[in-house]
Amino acid sequence: MSQNRSEISQLGEFGLIDHISKPFHPVNASTIKAIGDDAAVLDAGEAFVLLSTDMLVEGIHFDLSYTPIQHLGYKAVAVNVSDIAAMNGKAEQITVSLALSNRFSLEAVDALYQGIKSACDNYKVDLVGGDTTSSVSGLIISISVLGRIAKDKVAYRSGARSADIICVTGDLGAAFMGLQVLAREKEVFLTNPEMQPGLEPYEYLVSRQLKPEARTEIIFDLEEAGVMPTAMIDVSDGLASELFHLCKQSGVGVRIFEDKIPIDQLTFETAVEFKLDPITCALNGGEDYELLFTVKQEDHERIKKHPDIHMIGYVHERKDEKIMITKQGNVVALKAQGWDHFRDA
Ligand code: ADP
Ligand code: MG
Repeated sequence: MSQNRSEISQLGEFGLIDHISKPFHPVNASTIKAIGDDAAVLDAGEAFVLLSTDMLVEGIHFDLSYTPIQHLGYKAVAVNVSDIAAMNGKAEQITVSLALSNRFSLEAVDALYQGIKSACDNYKVDLVGGDTTSSVSGLIISISVLGRIAKDKVAYRSGARSADIICVTGDLGAAFMGLQVLAREKEVFLTNPEMQPGLEPYEYLVSRQLKPEARTEIIFDLEEAGVMPTAMIDVSDGLASELFHLCKQSGVGVRIFEDKIPIDQLTFETAVEFKLDPITCALNGGEDYELLFTVKQEDHERIKKHPDIHMIGYVHERKDEKIMITKQGNVVALKAQGWDHFRDA
């Protein structure tokens, strides 16, 4: 073995994925899209099948001291369904793999599966398998999801073209602020267990963190409006990071406008209370599970009345230019901070 030791933290999560994937080249004609998008795209004859997987690890992605375990089950399914939505597809089946220690009772597992069941009912997906094993201490949940889509309807990260309009759904930064609130209340509780957690005023933020929803209805609305997104990705790591993915895969640049970025009033006020910049929270917070997509200029009319779709900027051909125009009219370069567990740790 070589004496050299290279730190993974030097690469970061995305650098590591690039590094891992380099030697792999699909050999099956049915592999339409391998690594690099929200889901793999596989030829299943009449339609394409979409396949994605996401893992949640205790201590990294969740803290059971403030996460109701049934919400965790729900979230683990929702984030997978979101990746299928991000391809413009419909999730149909999941498998659930668990690593459990003896810290967990049957009641805890039942609660976890109540959440999984509730998400399966809500998103109309079937639980079709999984794996169960033991772990030394923490809980690990890994879910894989299968979806289906008509062959001419797949929205890749790579389809954004110059002059396309950049759209994002819902509002951004709320899940991140929810996490800040939960972490603060945990600290308060640890120093003074008599104190009741003061979460009520922040309910919207906390629910966005603990029980996010996949924006499946947007896929339906776009189809009904006759709009085919040119590119799409879901916002798991933060708007800026996802814009960088779209730019890299599409070979384009972006120009977004600060005053168009949708931020809920409570997110804004709570960020100020925490002495954080609300825009930074919206750009880099992550875990919003909103959809970020681009559409052709000519589709503007078809989506402009949708209450949950916000047009935040446009695509341009200079791929080295990823900028935001501030409220004052200044130009700032976007930075893709995102969530990077390898650097956080
Ligand atoms: P998302 O945030 O949409 O879940 P990721 O950033 O996790 O996507 O992953 C990006 C791409 O890299 C996906 O195609 C995913 O399947 C692939 N990927 C992630 N980790 C690995 C790994 N360890 N081995 C192979 N492919 C991976
Ligand atoms: Mg994704």
